[in-house]
Amino acid sequence: MKRKADISTEAVWAGEKSYRVHGATQVPVVNSVAYNYNDLDDWYEVAIGNADGHIYGRNTNPTLASFEDKIQQLEGAEAATSFSTGMAAISNTLHTFLKPGDRVVSIKDTYGGTNKIFSEFLPRLNIDISLCDTGDHDILEKEIEKGCQIVYLESPTNPTVKVTDIKRIARKAKEQGALVIVDNTFATPILQNPLQLDADLVIHSATKFLGGHADALGGALCGAKHLVEQVFHYREINGATMDPMAAYLLLRGMKTLDLRIWKQTENAEKLVEFLSNHPAVEDVFYPGLKNHPNHEIAKQQMKGYGGMFSFSLYGGMDAVKEVLPRLQYANRAANLGAVESTVGPARTTSHVESTPEERAKLGIPESLIRYSAGIESFDDLKTDLENALKS
Ligand SMILES: *Cc1c(COP(=O)(O)O)cnc(C)c1O
Repeated sequence: MKRKADISTEAVWAGEKSYRVHGATQVPVVNSVAYNYNDLDDWYEVAIGNADGHIYGRNTNPTLASFEDKIQQLEGAEAATSFSTGMAAISNTLHTFLKPGDRVVSIKDTYGGTNKIFSEFLPRLNIDISLCDTGDHDILEKEIEKGCQIVYLESPTNPTVKVTDIKRIARKAKEQGALVIVDNTFATPILQNPLQLDADLVIHSATKFLGGHADALGGALCGAKHLVEQVFHYREINGATMDPMAAYLLLRGMKTLDLRIWKQTENAEKLVEFLSNHPAVEDVFYPGLKNHPNHEIAKQQMKGYGGMFSFSLYGGMDAVKEVLPRLQYANRAANLGAVESTVGPARTTSHVESTPEERAKLGIPESLIRYSAGIESFDDLKTDLENALKS
């Protein structure tokens, strides 16, 4: 779908006007659980889906609808729906399209919770999961050729920011008639549009960059109407509905999405350069680095390299324990994408559910620090890191 205006304009205006009431310039938080109909025929028409309207809060809600319209337009999708969390978006989508005997091809470096769905919950339903080395496109293609119903990607990945060529893998998946699902949480629609790279469905943890203020949980799914509708139906029955107040906070956060993402990207790029030349730093992971294994792919499919990077320190976990508490302008927290810079070791954030052996298999050093650049001044963030890394 074509955008009516620049994405920065749409981030502010999309999905807003049709939900405002009484001349208010902002979308209201509708906390009502149910909706009144004096005319029983009207009620019936809405209930069976013949007319627009709302019946019950688990199914639909005006504040949620406004959030859904905004993310739908930002991703240039035909349709969108919302969820209580990013993990609800992921699990509801997978459960909608998978049945016993099916096969999923994905990568080893998906978000920790997604990885648990693949390793713990789906195998119980007799669903076969093949997890490939992230960034190795030949292996991915070989696994897809064996036949599968879903190809599930995340790019860039958490926490080593690896990149997959979405267009190339989508082409191979289509030969098998498989659905291509992409978790776009790290890039956001500002930097990457998986639907334009031939993915079928895009997932977001809205909790992260979309909301941007670390004060609301949410998830979103965008794509073709006939696909999104099926997942909406699963969600309305199974009940992972977003809270109206969360929808409001996420909507408000999304208005500054474009501003935040470019500032966070700029900060990340400069911090990566600074850390790459620092004697205490062992390794730096960022798709914008020329020595990143898939730098060229990132350059092609992303408009910018984003606010997420990671780095490891000489001296292992002891060094991490010494350095992180010294940071003044960073929350040490299991979150990312907020206006405040946020840091954490991978072993206590994205991959806390994994064992040290599992993390080693995923290529995640125990001393890896994930850094989500905030919107602070680069000079202050650099000085902060400089001081923390002294000695
Ligand atoms: C946080 C995150 C999720 C899960 O989102 P929640 O809102 O915490 O459930 C999924 N994918 C990625 C890439 C994430 O960073």
